[in-house]
Amino acid sequence: MSKLGVAVLGMSMMLQAVSQEARPDPKDTEAWTPAPARIVPGSATRAPSDAVVLFDGADAREWVSAAAPARAAGWTVADGTLTVRGGSGDIQTRRSFTDYQIHLEWRVPATLTGSGQARGNSGLFLSTGTGNGYELQILDCADNQTYVNGQAASIYKQHVTLVNACAAAGEWQTYDVIWTAPRFGADGALVSPAYVTALHNGVLVQNHVALTGESLHAGQPTYRKHGAAPIKLQDHGDAVSFRNIWVRPL
Ligand code: MG
Repeated sequence: MSKLGVAVLGMSMMLQAVSQEARPDPKDTEAWTPAPARIVPGSATRAPSDAVVLFDGADAREWVSAAAPARAAGWTVADGTLTVRGGSGDIQTRRSFTDYQIHLEWRVPATLTGSGQARGNSGLFLSTGTGNGYELQILDCADNQTYVNGQAASIYKQHVTLVNACAAAGEWQTYDVIWTAPRFGADGALVSPAYVTALHNGVLVQNHVALTGESLHAGQPTYRKHGAAPIKLQDHGDAVSFRNIWVRPL
């Protein structure tokens, strides 16, 4: 072999050695621990095995009056459903939560006479915050005209639903929501906002939206420092029903 040939061969062997050395081992990027907990997934009628069941159709023991948390929830439990008793007030969970996944089924009455915001209105407040809370709207939207940032699946007055995935009044509908609570510094300043991802009847309607504060009927939303807080359901006077409510704290 010529001198040049030897040099080229030497060079190619060196390059091969380098490339073998630099080739990443797929094992280096495999994570094996900690293993995610094995759970039994739910179905339309069954909560996952690691969920906190907030309403299973039998009783409302996980709920209390929002105005007077020492008092039991004043809503009606019948036929496996929890129904707003108009005028009895909002209800909230006994427990407080920070970040979580929630599943909830809701139904507005089949016979509705009102319109706009007075047509099957309730609300899922993802946290009561400092009082006003953060509302994912519940409202008839199959046959109803209202401001779009106040229609069902909107974050009230903040984020319009991506699509109208409503079922007809009188039919059961689902919300599946991932809630990330806002974080505050010791001085009360907002460190990170609340985030919501929501599916309505299995359809993505809020995609990791950042909230600008607690929901207000009038005026601009603002944040005030709070920690873990209850989840609240709204009494807006309409006989909206709920069933199969569960939450998985994250
Ligand atoms: Mg409402």
